Amino acid sequence: MFVDVAKISLRAGDGGNGAVSFHREKYVAAGGPDGGDGGRGGNILFAADDNLSTLADFRYKRKYAAENGQNGKASRCSGKSAKDLVIRVPRGTLVREAETGRILADISDDAPVVIAKGGRGGWGNQHFASSTRQIPRFAKSGTPGEALEVVLELKLLADVGLIGFPNVGKSTLISMVSEARPKIANYHFTTLTPVLGVVRMGEGSSFVMADIPGLIEGAGEGVGLGHDFLRHVERCRLLLHVVDVSGSEGRDPIEDFETINKELCRFNPELGQRPQIVAGNKCDLASEEQLARVEAYFKEKGMAYFPIMAAIAEGTGELINHVAAALSTLPPVKRYEAEAAPTEDFSQPAGRGFKVRRENGVYLVEDAPWLHKIMETVNPEDYEALQYFERVLQQNGIIRALEEAGVQDGDTVSIYGFEFDFIS
Ligand code: GDP
Ligand code: MG
Repeated sequence: MFVDVAKISLRAGDGGNGAVSFHREKYVAAGGPDGGDGGRGGNILFAADDNLSTLADFRYKRKYAAENGQNGKASRCSGKSAKDLVIRVPRGTLVREAETGRILADISDDAPVVIAKGGRGGWGNQHFASSTRQIPRFAKSGTPGEALEVVLELKLLADVGLIGFPNVGKSTLISMVSEARPKIANYHFTTLTPVLGVVRMGEGSSFVMADIPGLIEGAGEGVGLGHDFLRHVERCRLLLHVVDVSGSEGRDPIEDFETINKELCRFNPELGQRPQIVAGNKCDLASEEQLARVEAYFKEKGMAYFPIMAAIAEGTGELINHVAAALSTLPPVKRYEAEAAPTEDFSQPAGRGFKVRRENGVYLVEDAPWLHKIMETVNPEDYEALQYFERVLQQNGIIRALEEAGVQDGDTVSIYGFEFDFIS
């Protein structure tokens, strides 16, 4: 079975914790803090793999986790960072955040894309010694790796999409003009999975054609097979619409044409506007009258129309030349942009104002009486309390404001007399 949608969960690795440790040596009573830093947690990346053509693998394995970073150790030993996890998907896979549906990435190009970031390693207590705090009893724990559910959706990358009712000769056509060899048979829905074929035009020019299963009436609303496959023509720059001129199955080619276009519009109005070229197939079975009627219809519509006999490759050369010429005037295959997360305005949370100012290299957080009140309850010698304080700074956008103001690791931040080194 062809699988082109899958939902999986991702968990990037957590950052390792920083170590709390003190240097010990013979004859040295109390050494300084020497706890090493935690390692970075592994990221989860997605990369395009041209050997894959379906998302079937993701039906069996749905949970993906990258490893955690190692904890820091004594003697300033940093924990090892974890390896990244690279998940391979067919080219043209969209990665969406399951919760919101927003697009995180379009895995169509070669560069792998980070979807879940590993946590940062925490700093060991070696970094926390300062003139006012000689014996730092705390280290930073690593930050957790990102965890999220994503929906993968395959949208094939093809220049030309073949559309048309079942059995009109789409698979026959692609097998004649490209190296693709889809199943061809005289019954409906022999093509159950999309097939890509490269059409070579000589002199290094070529384009990709996709044979997708026959669209049937109601496909735009999920009736029958068509609906699932319409997504695969969404990216095509041009649609090659195949009709059976002879009406060999008792349908009327003009009615077929109109039905399919209605379905395309229903699925996605933009798709209804996509440039189309029409191939009238099975001319060998059609009467003069049928041939003339169909040709006149498309001529009147001002559409490019080519009578062909796909089975013996009659007329296909001319058709393909026209398709190639049309493609050269069209924009490249559509890429989807990542959609931004809805942004929250951290600058002035209701009732929780503050200002960040830089003076003599020190970053001052001011005009925040609410924060001052919280600080009175925080014991800076207590690790848990400091973690709580850090969360307050994080949640109220103060860390972000500091970063926007240009703070770097190791810079001094001063909040109502409490000074500390900034650590991102
Ligand atoms: P698809 O369902 O649109 O992919 O159609 P297929 O390519 O599988 O073809 C359906 C049937 O039509 C097969 O039996 C083909 O051999 C036949 N066929 C394809 N092209 C022609 C043609 O030009 N003339 C005739 N008479 N039959 C054809
Ligand atoms: Mg077919």
